[in-house]
Amino acid sequence: MKKKLEVQAIENGSVIDHIAAGKGVKILKFFQLTDTNQKITIGLNLPTGGSTTKDLIKIENTQITGVQANQLALFAPDATINLIDDYDVVKKFKVELPEAISGVLACPNSNCISHNEPVDSLFYIKQKQQIKLKCHYCEKSFATSFFKELD
Ligand SMILES: [Zn+2]
Repeated sequence: MKKKLEVQAIENGSVIDHIAAGKGVKILKFFQLTDTNQKITIGLNLPTGGSTTKDLIKIENTQITGVQANQLALFAPDATINLIDDYDVVKKFKVELPEAISGVLACPNSNCISHNEPVDSLFYIKQKQQIKLKCHYCEKSFATSFFKELD
């Protein structure tokens, strides 16, 4: 099998692969991945071998944590994380949706008390055909497209 390197290999760090095309830049912003002086390489609209395209992010000298990987699943349910050490993939895993997410998303319901109280937002995540997030405070459920942070 011929292997094509889409983006230059890194010595140490993390590669987030199989991000749906168009989500790569949002992921960088959401996780404030650019708040670092480490080298970041982002590939947009890369061919997947099939009929679709994907985005890919490489961050040097940074290990994506399990919590970050789970939050990533909200943007990119099919993403895989590769942890690289000395040019080798030492760990490869798929992101998994967390059961809940706290503090990082604002409730789309403008009447929700979470906007007026000094509390961290909290959503429970349910998935049937589509991911839904249920607010702990107003108990309303929202698709990911309701969140400006995710869409
Ligand atoms: Zn709410």
